[in-house]
Amino acid sequence: MSKERIGFYPGTFDPITLGHSDIIQRATKLVDKLVIGVAINRDKGPMFTLDERVEMVQDELDAIEGQLNDCEIEVRPFDNLLMHCAQEHGAGIIIRGLRAVSDFEYEFQMVGMNLRLNSEIETVFLMANDKYQFIASRLVKEIARLDGDVTAFVSPRVANRLYERVGRT
Ligand code: ADP
Repeated sequence: MSKERIGFYPGTFDPITLGHSDIIQRATKLVDKLVIGVAINRDKGPMFTLDERVEMVQDELDAIEGQLNDCEIEVRPFDNLLMHCAQEHGAGIIIRGLRAVSDFEYEFQMVGMNLRLNSEIETVFLMANDKYQFIASRLVKEIARLDGDVTAFVSPRVANRLYERVGRT
């Protein structure tokens, strides 16, 4: 009997974008179970509370249910060390998305350090469809605040939440 492959996809998801959803869909082709770890990340001063971010991720998953390759998915908040959290969930693979070269340096360091913490867990990098590669939650929030249109970057549900949060109707 083959061992169940479990992946852990961590992030802040403040809020979840079409880039994140694309990475999630791709990751479901690689693992039997995917745990999406929503980081509390107080330092980043998130626009959405942890509960809101978890709820938005769950809503997106419900909306793309048919495209998740029958992969079992769990959404879990986490506030501890990424490697410990991955371990607690029995994950053998950490999934990260790579956008531009700018992501590389940070990710390169993270993998190096994470391997020292647990050499059994591999990090796998995925690239989103080129339509979504440039999307970053930080910029989406800025566009919403400055009265711009975010519908090319997030789902209509998340766009409404963003508009609501910045006081637009
Ligand atoms: P973090 O706070 O760790 O940067 P994010 O929520 O911004 O978390 O992103 C989580 C993961 O998703 C990271 O690996 C990030 O590189 C990846 N990601 C975010 N947006 C995109 C995108 N548009 N294309 C590919 N990967 C992405």
